[in-house]
This record gives sequence, C-alpha cells and structure tokens, in this order.
Amino acid sequence: MLVYMYQASLYCSHCGTLVQADLESQGLAPNNPEDERTFDSDRYPKGLYEAGESDSPDFCYMCGTFLQNPLTSDGNKYVLEHWDGWGQEVRDFYDYLKPASYYKIVGEIVRGNHKKAHDNSLVFKRLFNRNLKDYMDSITGFDIIKFDEDIETPDGISTHDFILKTYGQEAVDLVHSLI
Ligand SMILES: [Zn+2]
Repeated sequence: MLVYMYQASLYCSHCGTLVQADLESQGLAPNNPEDERTFDSDRYPKGLYEAGESDSPDFCYMCGTFLQNPLTSDGNKYVLEHWDGWGQEVRDFYDYLKPASYYKIVGEIVRGNHKKAHDNSLVFKRLFNRNLKDYMDSITGFDIIKFDEDIETPDGISTHDFILKTYGQEAVDLVHSLI
C-alpha cells in the first residue's frame, strides 16, 4: 500500500493528503511540494511511497488503517507470537505465517531430527560409546556444545581436529552429518 511519511510516522494516502491540504490552508506548505529535496518530512508529508519492510505491522498514524507493509524476519516472529491479538485484516495479509503452516514447518524439523537420531544411533554408539539421544533435541538438533564438553576437547584444539585425532575420519563425517 502507498503511504506518506510525516513527522516520523506513516500515514495512509487519504490522511496524508488531508494533512497536506491542512498545511496548505495554513500557508505552511513548502514552495515546491513536488520537489521533495526542498523540504523535510517533519514539516510536510512526503510520498507516496510503497510501504517498506518493518519489524511489525504498520498503521496510519491518523486513522489506524493497516498499511499492508512487508515484514522483516523479526517482524514475522513478532506477528506470529501475537497471532491471536491481530485483527482479521492483519492476519489475512500475513496469512503465510499462520500457525498451521508454522506448526507444519516445526513438524518437519522434528521429524528430520528424529530421523537423524534414528539413522545414526548405532554408529554413534560404536564410534563414541555414547547415546546419540543424549545429544539430540527435537527442535534444535544435535547439541555440539554439550558433545564437545562431554568428549573433553582440550583447550587450544578445535573439536574437528580432536575428533579426527581421537576417533578418526568416520567420526568426523558422522558429526558433520548431524549438524
Ligand atoms: Zn489514515
């Protein structure tokens, strides 16, 4: 949606035009409103612009109209976290985030991690004499930090080099396939 920028706030095209007309009637419009370089948006609404990416849904400062702006990844997270609190219009616009598809994505991650744990448990046990399930989280996957601590990688040597030296190439490949 096209918006105006005025005094660090966004306005819908309707309200932006009203503000401009109001300033004009008070004799406060810039000499050449067509040339945006000649005035500051603190003084007179600039626009119209396509609503830009934002960390949250944006609304017209004056009338509250939802401005249909795209979201940053933080914005996606924010909208999703408060999903039930948004009006229907906002939820419809960001439909791609709706919990159903979100849970579907999470479901795929969980299934992927279960499959990794299942497929690699035996060889993990054989190589490290440890249980892979102790290091697998259904969401975040293989916990390399915990594993690194448990195998007691000494300071000054990388986990990769330590595994290679102590457990061999097959162990390095296995850990790579887990992370
Ligand atoms: Zn408005």
